[in-house]
Amino acid sequence: MFKKLLIANRGEIAIRILRACKELGIKTVAVHSLIDASLMHVKFADESICIGPNSSAQSYLNISSILSAAEVTGAEAIHPGVGFLSENAHFARMVSEHNITFIGPSPYHLTMMGDKVIAKKTMQNLGLPVVNGSDGALDDIEIALRNAENIGYPVILKASLGGGGKGMKVSNNPEELQLNFKLAKSEAKINFGSDAIYLEKYLTNPKHIEIQIICDNYGHVLFLGERECSIQRNNQKLMEESPSTVLNEEQRYHIGEIIVKAFRQLGYSGVATIEFLYDNGQFFFMEVNPRLQVEHSVTEQTTGIDIVKEQIKIAAGEELSIHQSDIKIKGHAIEFRINAEDSKTFMPCPGKIEELYFPGGNGIRVDSHIYRNYVVPQYYDSLLAKIIVYANTREECLKKAAYALDELVIDGVNTTTELHKKLIKEQDIIDGNFDIHWLVRNIDRL
Ligand code: ADP
Repeated sequence: MFKKLLIANRGEIAIRILRACKELGIKTVAVHSLIDASLMHVKFADESICIGPNSSAQSYLNISSILSAAEVTGAEAIHPGVGFLSENAHFARMVSEHNITFIGPSPYHLTMMGDKVIAKKTMQNLGLPVVNGSDGALDDIEIALRNAENIGYPVILKASLGGGGKGMKVSNNPEELQLNFKLAKSEAKINFGSDAIYLEKYLTNPKHIEIQIICDNYGHVLFLGERECSIQRNNQKLMEESPSTVLNEEQRYHIGEIIVKAFRQLGYSGVATIEFLYDNGQFFFMEVNPRLQVEHSVTEQTTGIDIVKEQIKIAAGEELSIHQSDIKIKGHAIEFRINAEDSKTFMPCPGKIEELYFPGGNGIRVDSHIYRNYVVPQYYDSLLAKIIVYANTREECLKKAAYALDELVIDGVNTTTELHKKLIKEQDIIDGNFDIHWLVRNIDRL
């Protein structure tokens, strides 16, 4: 096992990784930007190093600064967390060239999954069901128009190297597609450095269902069930749960088996989430996230498996000690993302946390980095806390969630707490009757 690990991230996820390291007896190095010097993960780590000014580009995305910090402190491994450099193949390659272990898949697999067109083709060849769409990236509007005609409107244009729910354009007819084609290309170029875009059938009422897997270096692939993440704003998740209300045991294990076989064949190592749209009882592959995800905690509650510890052990070359037959998906878990943002417009709301109280009790888990008088900076993601509620049934889970969200006090900044309180009282949410557009359709009323 590693003796020392550097956490190349901030916020709640940095603390989450730090806790896993403590349990595994690994010394930790925290890195931080200037403004983050007093964050909790910096205080709890064995060592800490400032890696640059406040902007992400100059700190948490600054590869040479992070590598220098690892060299200076003698860290044997780097955990990239989520976001920032976690899917960056170049960073993963640089890390291993410095004889440091990158906690994640190989640069080869990161490159493959980072290009959604290649990932989709690869997964389709390995037997995964995919959304009907263009055959690869599109350069020519005439081909795009012909594709759309064959598939049928509405269609969605997506950036091949896209992420974070950005740069997607829906078109309902050829005129819109003609306009959006140019826009999508230039937005892709600006946001992701490549103007490669592709086209897909736009599913009007699907659910977002994703599958968590863990793979070691010895061909073992574990399937940890699904998470439903249909409650979204700006194509980004707000509330996640496991299991999904719409899958039965047979459907769950059917898709699980296809994925396990595909990833074994790929020789993939590390954790991954395979994201699908789910419509009319059918799965449609969207993308692979070849890293830890914010919502991993939901699956930890329903399986009892510490995904971060397993991820680190795999990177250290250990064989998975758990077998598929040991994994029992039990009870129900829901995660509520508490973001510093306006609950109607979802614009970020930085500011000072004047008062803070976290809920507790049986089955309530709070993953957070904030404290009273903490000033939420404008530079980073708006996530303040994850309230993860676990109970035997979904019904009980929603009841627990009601008191947990009522107990939660975060004064000084606007948060998504009030929205969550309303959401769990909605009949559609109680009935599991919602798709990825439910929140947008209902936000004005809420
Ligand atoms: P990103 O990598 O930016 O998160 P994804 O491909 O995972 O992009 O898509 C993010 C979200 O966008 C999905 O959860 C879904 O809400 C919406 N979306 C993506 N593709 C489609 C599609 N073909 N039809 C309908 N909605 C889609």
